[in-house]
Amino acid sequence: MGPIQSMNAESVETLVIGGGITGACFFHVAARRGREVLLVERGDFASGTSQASGMMIWGGLLYLKNLEFKLVRKFSRSRDRLLARRPDQADVRRIVFLPLLRGGRPGWFVWAGLQLYRALSNFRRGPVLPSPCTAEELGFRGGRFARGWSYEEGFLRSSDALFCLDWLVGSGRFERALNHTLIASLTWDGQARLFHVVLRDSITGRERKVEARRVVNCAGPWADSVNKEWGVSTSTRHHHSKGVYLLLPNAGGEQALAMEMEHEGDALCWVPWGPVAMWGPTETDITHPDEGRATAEDVDFLLERLNRNSARRWTRDDILNVRVGTRPLALPPGRKVSYSLDLSRRAILEEHPEIPWSTAFGGKLSGALDFAILMHERIHGDKIRPNGFPVAPPRARPTTRENFGGMSLVDPAWCRDHEACRTLEDYLRRRTNAGQWIAHGGIGRSREHLGDLARIASILHPDDLDGAKADLDSYIQAQDDFRRSWNHG
Ligand SMILES: Cc1cc2nc3c(=O)[nH]c(=O)nc-3n(C[C@H](O)[C@H](O)[C@H](O)COP(=O)(O)OP(=O)(O)OC[C@H]3O[C@@H](n4cnc5c(N)ncnc54)[C@H](O)[C@@H]3O)c2cc1C
Repeated sequence: MGPIQSMNAESVETLVIGGGITGACFFHVAARRGREVLLVERGDFASGTSQASGMMIWGGLLYLKNLEFKLVRKFSRSRDRLLARRPDQADVRRIVFLPLLRGGRPGWFVWAGLQLYRALSNFRRGPVLPSPCTAEELGFRGGRFARGWSYEEGFLRSSDALFCLDWLVGSGRFERALNHTLIASLTWDGQARLFHVVLRDSITGRERKVEARRVVNCAGPWADSVNKEWGVSTSTRHHHSKGVYLLLPNAGGEQALAMEMEHEGDALCWVPWGPVAMWGPTETDITHPDEGRATAEDVDFLLERLNRNSARRWTRDDILNVRVGTRPLALPPGRKVSYSLDLSRRAILEEHPEIPWSTAFGGKLSGALDFAILMHERIHGDKIRPNGFPVAPPRARPTTRENFGGMSLVDPAWCRDHEACRTLEDYLRRRTNAGQWIAHGGIGRSREHLGDLARIASILHPDDLDGAKADLDSYIQAQDDFRRSWNHG
């Protein structure tokens, strides 16, 4: 055990475990409603699945396949609320998708599905229109696809990780959200009806004692492991599904495409995001979230599907970066899964019958605020009127052009001082998109950005040369290992 800063335990009403989108939104709602909340995240905020998504704030078109009208209506309403904000305040923007159809479903059926989808959002989204361009015009093989219809969705302006951070910062109590913090011990005192918790900062080793009246487990795909570790049993569990995207140079415009594939009627998407395009995602069942690593097979699958449909040939050398995450899918008791896309994306809050411990199962970026409001109402007994929760706008962040050949990026010193940016990976991956948009996690194809990385590390660790070097070395090692894992060794 490291040194304990103070023997006096700090009292909190609610301890939130996990700083992904579910924990961040819940923290935001509870803090803005005046609750004493403390959030602990063992890595950086959004360092789990919430940094690896497709970044769509969508109504859940695919879930119509399972006749989940209520869920689609709910997600659509959340999306439309975020899209209705003034453009200068919005962290979600409109995106128009063109479905390219392989003939798996008749054209009239797809058209009717899209009309129903729009109707479920009370026609708040733009009309379903015949696709303005052909597959060939978009760089894909015309003979393989029929023209579809365009429809509107929401897409995050900056990134999923920043969307998540904005909820935490916008809560007004950001100092109560602790990243790089582990739970060293946790015990329930039935007499005092308190959890005694020791938290340890994994970078400084400092410890602090906390007494919490309740715990809310928002550890996403790791929620079951957290429950197991602290002896909490639940009837709901998670089913885990791995999803991989390739990040490729985006040569061709702003058009997002949803392409019907042969397998089980699924679709793969081509979504422009700044200078890159995201291609994916895969959907593979795994038994534990720690198995959620990108493999050579995942990359082969995505390249093969792309080359089958693209007018040009793509190879491993084109890949700038790979994103991988584990979907936490709520598995109610008795529910069996044969194929994870058949499983509802509904979020479930389960409260323990004897101790004040709640667990969030499932949950998505889309609809995260609504789920957080529901959690807050159930856990804190505080009713919020429908549509009555104002959303804090994303903040302006000072930028610099000092690194990466003049790319405009948020100032690392500012991130260090105002956004708890503590490591190079925090900065490259989750305070900026440099680690995603520049090859090899920002290192560069020929390692040409090592100097930029060293400079940023020295800013993040002022007066600590050894700390800056250790951070740089471990970042490079992690990126090299990651690349080897999907690049045939
Ligand atoms: C490939 C892919 C594409 C997707 N696309 C979309 C999309 O387009 N739109 C959409 O709405 N959703 C999408 N999703 C789903 C969405 O990304 C996830 O459902 C959502 O991010 C889950 O958020 P979470 O907060 O529950 O989990 P996470 O983001 O994983 O957060 C859980 C956090 O808990 C932390 N944690 C774990 N154990 C502990 C512990 N012991 N102590 C402290 N902290 C701990 C983790 O480090 C992690 O940061 C996608 C998912 C995938 C995988």
